[in-house]
Amino acid sequence: MLSRLLHRPSQTRSPRSIARLLVITLCVATASLGCHAGDEVDSSETAVTPASKVNAETNAMSKSDSVEPQVVKTIVGPFNPLTPEEAYVILEKGTERPGDHGLTLTKDPGTYICRRCNAPLYHAKHKFVSHCGWPSFDDEIKGAVARHPDADGRRVEIVCANCDGHLGHVFEGEQLTPKNVRHCVNSISMKFIPEGKELPAKIVQPESKSDNTSEPTDKDPAKD
Ligand SMILES: [Zn+2]
Repeated sequence: MLSRLLHRPSQTRSPRSIARLLVITLCVATASLGCHAGDEVDSSETAVTPASKVNAETNAMSKSDSVEPQVVKTIVGPFNPLTPEEAYVILEKGTERPGDHGLTLTKDPGTYICRRCNAPLYHAKHKFVSHCGWPSFDDEIKGAVARHPDADGRRVEIVCANCDGHLGHVFEGEQLTPKNVRHCVNSISMKFIPEGKELPAKIVQPESKSDNTSEPTDKDPAKD
């Protein structure tokens, strides 16, 4: 009974209205195949809506991807992870490009610490303008910087006494300051902590007698 009632209207449709329905159906079908029919606007709307949704989604995805740049960091031991540029200088004893970038022109009061282990290396009062293109200091925080003969046989390499990270070279006898010493340090080997800001804790390598060289560690690593 109910089905009869439901079917009745279609059954009672005139052949003309059925033909119109068929035409509309055909139009929609052909429009979806790219037909430039009169109902182009309707078909384009239905075609664009899902596509624009997808685009919005992919745009959102690409935006969120670009927010997080992929930076591979080198992690050696317990120390701060290093970017490839930092690792090239600090671990492979490379030299950064000279210039007025980085910490070369920094004059603010504060402390220069090791980028790798946070050990305080230089005070701002040790810094002077040498115009050599790298940050220059004529003194260091006591015990913070170790000196080694450079592989080139001429210069003296300076490294962080705590983590052995490469800092640069030290030169004497240039008469640039009364102390007559120039620590020529790569900006990338350091981090500047402005005065008043808390210094991060120094990261100390746990003692490993088997792995390390037989360097005597008579000083207390906990002491600064
Ligand atoms: Zn260090």
